Amino acid sequence: MIAWPDAKALFAAAYEVKTRNVGRRVSMRGLLEIGNVCEKNCHYCGIRRGNAEVRRYSIGADEIVAAARWAYDAGYGSLVMQSGELSGEAHTAFIEGILRRIHEFGGDDFGITLSLGEQDEETYRRWREAGAHRYLLRIETSNRELYASLHPADHSWERRRDCLRTLRRCGYQVGTGVMAGLPGQTVEDLAADIGFFVAEDIDMIGMGPYIPHPQTPLGKGIPWTPADAAARLELGLRMIAATRLRLHDVNIAAATALQALEPDGRERGLLAGANVMMPNITDAAHRADYQLYPGKPCLGENATLCRGCVEERIKSIGEEVNWGVRGDSPHFFKRGTGQ
Ligand code: SAH
Ligand code: SF4
Repeated sequence: MIAWPDAKALFAAAYEVKTRNVGRRVSMRGLLEIGNVCEKNCHYCGIRRGNAEVRRYSIGADEIVAAARWAYDAGYGSLVMQSGELSGEAHTAFIEGILRRIHEFGGDDFGITLSLGEQDEETYRRWREAGAHRYLLRIETSNRELYASLHPADHSWERRRDCLRTLRRCGYQVGTGVMAGLPGQTVEDLAADIGFFVAEDIDMIGMGPYIPHPQTPLGKGIPWTPADAAARLELGLRMIAATRLRLHDVNIAAATALQALEPDGRERGLLAGANVMMPNITDAAHRADYQLYPGKPCLGENATLCRGCVEERIKSIGEEVNWGVRGDSPHFFKRGTGQ
């Protein structure tokens, strides 16, 4: 059994390591949820293929490029494009075309992160060549049996792990992460997850608490109380802190799921060792339809409002915003493969 350290001492130690290695400046990425159509059926996710209650949307190329332009002009040094998982030539070419258009005005000053699921090597390569710099693909859990219990039989842990390796070969800054608080997950599993990040030499971590979604097979039976929310938040924060103590120079995001559990959840993530925030820049018309988990914050707000709000929140804890810079993972460049 792993000893359970005092939370305050754990967060303070992680904050000290963060301050020394990556400073007290928060790197910002504008998060654009470009569509909620998904070919996969992960048992925990609100936009899984099998959830018939979701109103599906896909944002068009012009609207995506316009939102990226807004983010660039507003001083976001980076953009994250995320969606359900889609495959095929038409989709690959669609994203490729968008990347080229964004690259025309942003060049390599504007960091582009993709979070579009598992793809083949050729697709990852084409997107990298068209201007993407980073890729986020959470392994969800490093425990293969637990992974199998969270997904249909045709979803493969090995394929997901291999995608992370392919992304590295293609020259991306590679991000992964897990959900903390999954049914059947142990503290030993979470410790092993951090070992997985080390073994795979990961550059960026995006992880957060698992939040049960009532329209999913995994979430529908799970009772929900304020005490549950508090426990999930604390576990998510502990995971950030423990990861920072082990991986000093990676980028760690204070995930929106933290804020879904507590209004100041992301700031608490920063104080536990995270150094990246991803304010939502998706048009308010689509936000409610992209609910991976319930309780997603700021559903009625627009991108301008989120920008101002997040800056105030960061200042309130004595940190500064790294406006206008890409905010790459120092780890990636130390490895010597950076570009
Ligand atoms: N389709 C892409 C990207 C969108 S999903 C992919 O799967 O990689 C992004 C992340 O949302 C997933 O990796 C998962 O970790 C997280 N997520 C999904 N459902 C969740 C839930 N109920 N609670 C917390 N996080 C969830
Ligand atoms: Fe689709 Fe990603 Fe949700 Fe899985 S986690 S159902 S791949 S959007």
